[in-house]
Amino acid sequence: MVSILPNNIQIEDDRTGINIETLKRAFLDNLFYIQAKFPKISTKNDYYMALAYTVRDRLLNRWLNTTETYLEKAPRTVAYLSAEFLLGPHLGNNLINLGLYNVVKQAMEDLGLSLTDLLEQEEEPGLGNGGLGRLAACYIDSLATLEIPAIGYGIRYEYGIFDQEIKDGWQVEITDKWLRYGNPWEVARPEAELEVKFGGHTEDFIDEHGRYRVKWIPFKVVKGVPYDTPILGFQTNTANTLRLWKAEATESFDFEAFNKGDYFGAVHEKSESENITKVLYPNDESYEGKQLRLEQQFFFVSCSLQDMIRMMQVQNLTLERFHEHYAIQLNDTHPTIAVAELMRLLLDEHGFDWDKAWNITTKTFAYTNHTLLPEALERWSLNMFGSLFPRHLKIIYEINSRFLDEVRIKFPDDFDRLRRMSIIDESGERYVRMANLACVGSFAINGVAELHSELLKKTTLHDFYEMYPEKFTNVTNGVTPRRFMVLSNPRLANLITSKIGDSWVKNLDDLRKLENFLYDTNFRKEFHKVKQEVKQDLANYIQTSYNITIDPNSLFDIQAKRIHEYKRQHLNALHIITLYNRIKANPNLDVTPRTFLFGGKAAPGYYMAKLIIKLINSIADVVNTDPDMRDRLKVVFLTDYNVKFAQRVYPAADLSEQISTAGKEASGTGNMKFSMNGALTIGTLDGANIEIREAVGEENFFLFGLTAQEVSQKKAAGYNPWDYYNSNPELKLAIDRISSGFFSHGDPNLFKPLVDSLLYRDDYLLLADYQSYIECQDRVSQAYRDREKWVWMSILNVARMGKFSSDRSISDYLKNIWKVPSVKVDVPEYSQSND
Ligand code: PLP
Repeated sequence: MVSILPNNIQIEDDRTGINIETLKRAFLDNLFYIQAKFPKISTKNDYYMALAYTVRDRLLNRWLNTTETYLEKAPRTVAYLSAEFLLGPHLGNNLINLGLYNVVKQAMEDLGLSLTDLLEQEEEPGLGNGGLGRLAACYIDSLATLEIPAIGYGIRYEYGIFDQEIKDGWQVEITDKWLRYGNPWEVARPEAELEVKFGGHTEDFIDEHGRYRVKWIPFKVVKGVPYDTPILGFQTNTANTLRLWKAEATESFDFEAFNKGDYFGAVHEKSESENITKVLYPNDESYEGKQLRLEQQFFFVSCSLQDMIRMMQVQNLTLERFHEHYAIQLNDTHPTIAVAELMRLLLDEHGFDWDKAWNITTKTFAYTNHTLLPEALERWSLNMFGSLFPRHLKIIYEINSRFLDEVRIKFPDDFDRLRRMSIIDESGERYVRMANLACVGSFAINGVAELHSELLKKTTLHDFYEMYPEKFTNVTNGVTPRRFMVLSNPRLANLITSKIGDSWVKNLDDLRKLENFLYDTNFRKEFHKVKQEVKQDLANYIQTSYNITIDPNSLFDIQAKRIHEYKRQHLNALHIITLYNRIKANPNLDVTPRTFLFGGKAAPGYYMAKLIIKLINSIADVVNTDPDMRDRLKVVFLTDYNVKFAQRVYPAADLSEQISTAGKEASGTGNMKFSMNGALTIGTLDGANIEIREAVGEENFFLFGLTAQEVSQKKAAGYNPWDYYNSNPELKLAIDRISSGFFSHGDPNLFKPLVDSLLYRDDYLLLADYQSYIECQDRVSQAYRDREKWVWMSILNVARMGKFSSDRSISDYLKNIWKVPSVKVDVPEYSQSND
């Protein structure tokens, strides 16, 4: 391979050298030449930026060599299309993956700086809501680690997920200005911009070969500018690209309008166009039929597909082989308009006939479903869809008509089935159903945990399963142990490595070897000591940030995830109130001291979720100031839960709350991260909890609650929450405490909507699961008193988490769906040497 760097560049070059002295020099050099600062006047952010550039320089060699290898070899490539990538901070992760963490730490110390402080300085790119976006981030890490040619495509939101503040117990949203101080990890590629069309109309015509063709005359055209971020694998030369698109106006300044004195008119188009990638919609597990959201989806999908086609043209590959060159994964339905856009590109812009284009399209896409919640299934008003994408609507009509013909052949005279399966919902106002389009246009459809994949086949996508059983498969989610163990819990990682070596970081199944040390008293002591130290770290942080003292010897009981009724943070709250009531009734009660920690954002328009946050904070106010609770119960709501915070929280948990109503959580990934860090789970048989329990052993998992089947049976039989309220005195007392105004300064109205929702509907069956949950929590309290036994169970949780590495998930996708072989990237010697 031809080296990209000139031959005369030395290993100690400021941009590639990795010994301490070179790193220090490079850092000061970047501080001077990029930040234009010298130490005396530098802010912490200047130091962070200088270090980030120093580390980025060391990535570039791998990144450019990877790009060059892909360009030359033109290997089959995974394109992961996701409207969200919840990346978390880059610096620490890149240091881990480059193997430079310790040497950089030392270099910073030599300069009188703390690496921990600088890591803290990074503003994370919060380009996602929660699990779905974080999954995409774990997957691109694993793709690079497994040396798979891959590219992540998404949106470069100017404002990511909002920052959360709590005022008087209520959530307040603040815009996330993550780009305010610049983003050292991305490289803008304005030279690779593309154009995306919107609106207008279509015109039919007959081409020179006498074939029927369609031309799309758009109303407006927006430019997509790619911003590339290198995604380096762990201990490998592969650095793949995450390509995020920013919208810009085609003409940033309308001179005609300006010359007429219309200054605002002149910049209007610019701001209109740029709006497309301005802000992430902050809704998790629900969708809103907003036009801008549909524009965002089409914008990034169109840019990405055009980019792939352009790449093939550069490589002199024929588009007839598009599906052989790319496996495109649709992360939920958000990018599903890609099915129609690829058809349009092939038909209208590259002259393919329908059958050929459809054959390519349906061999290209695979679709991951992430939800069973009906309110989260995307559908777009047909009028809006048609006015934005007149050509695509025509294509979708044609896809639908051919598809329904197939359905008629397979299921004759089944009109109701046709109605249900149609891509166009015609039951009232007409809609385009994106999940239906995804199922028709993809060769594979997967759920994200075994239960979820089964439920998809039985319920949400049942008709499609009957139509195309061969398309359906399961890929249980996974998470990267690099970020969520090595980086976030170095104490535990070092202890593990000291016992079993470091192979586990790449082969997480090797954690099994820890079981050989179960009978080693010293190891168990060390393991316990690590957990206590990590808890102390979190306690210190909470002391500093919230001025609340928590006791690291108490049981840290943590629920950290988006706030949603189906996730049932309010069931957790009912448990706290129950303990409170018990202690009030008997102040000498011997209870296991617990610290309840919550973290999570509510969608800004989701009133009930916001009320749950207010309830938790109101309970915290009462509990934390009641002398009877001292040294026994503490409740803290941690604000602004994001990836950075998550990395602090998972390692410190004793107990992980995974208490969604069975059948509602597709998989969960927080559950895996807690367990990997030695937390025991209290959970329902929902999502990946089931597989976690199978893996760690049922004796090492606290199970409670109805099964998914029991939930649906109970609902079908006519569930009445009052039966539970009236027959369970502890439950009644807990709910009465809320409704009486006890937690709201005597105001009985504040939490009335929440109480009424429980008593009159209880869609998520909190009351039905309450007793089982409380009894299970009592078993948890008992178990925590036997610390030896607890540590034993905790070790087994860590040791048996191999399956939940995102490396395993990606291997499943590769084997069962993508069939993309790995490609080795060679990097010239000079960047590998340590000194
Ligand atoms: N939010 C953040 C910031 C996360 O890091 C994660 C991680 O998985 C989630 C939400 C998802 O949590 P859960 O799977 O528990 O819903």
